[in-house]
Amino acid sequence: MRLATFAYRNTVRIGVVDNNTLLSPDPAAGTPATMLELIAGGESALARFFTAAQVAQPLPVDHVRLLAPIPQPARNIMCLGFNYVEHVQETAGSTVDARAIPEHPVVFTKNTTSVVGPGAQVPCHPDITSELDWEVELAVVIGSGGRAIREPDALDHVFGYTVINDLSARDLQVRHQQFFLGKSLDGSCPMGPWLVTRDEISDPQNLNLRCRVNGEIKQNSNTQHMVFDVATIIARLSRGMTLQPGDIIATGTPSGVGFTREPPEFLRPGDTVACEIDGIGMLTNSLVAG
Ligand code: MG
Repeated sequence: MRLATFAYRNTVRIGVVDNNTLLSPDPAAGTPATMLELIAGGESALARFFTAAQVAQPLPVDHVRLLAPIPQPARNIMCLGFNYVEHVQETAGSTVDARAIPEHPVVFTKNTTSVVGPGAQVPCHPDITSELDWEVELAVVIGSGGRAIREPDALDHVFGYTVINDLSARDLQVRHQQFFLGKSLDGSCPMGPWLVTRDEISDPQNLNLRCRVNGEIKQNSNTQHMVFDVATIIARLSRGMTLQPGDIIATGTPSGVGFTREPPEFLRPGDTVACEIDGIGMLTNSLVAG
């Protein structure tokens, strides 16, 4: 099932994506009104929502504005750094950030206020950064939370998957010696176009993903090249920290980012970035001066 959050006639709704239409039950009938409510309701809420959606008036996708599937996460987005082998290798020799293959997951977060939806215009923040970079990533949304989740059970705790562009201000990452500010600029977490429930993704470690800038392929890889797979990430994050329904984990980016290129490439106003994962969808955003 593909689940979207969208704006329609000045209201924010959630619905099931069915080809080119959205099936959105009326929340007045008692179904969850937000994606976080739907996730928190567990399998039974999802089943009721799906049933109610089947009798909803179809809305053409063209008539609504898709938002991030979780427009206002309850907590920061947890992100893996250096989690694709070739991406670690491409940082060798970089003056920005060169690393070795990590023995333990490298984890940082992005502020919730950085989240924007598909099609949203992303500000380049030219007053504070000249090194805004792209990073296509598979994002995992937690369904049932927990602590000390075992690896063999970990994928059962996934509600679904979506696409995140982990836009990164490289100069801020270096200047502040920590990732948070450089990863948290307003607009720097495009998410979407929708959330695909876990039953539709038979193997999260075999998904092709790619990023195009102005139509040119910059990143092109497969999730099989992750250093730590999704199950391991969930197990390691939850060792001493309770994961909650609706938590979002960005699982790292493959090679082909801008700062490792010769010469380095960064995003400019007018650029268009399209991040795509097979089986999920394409997330497209344009850059503006802002
Ligand atoms: Mg990243």
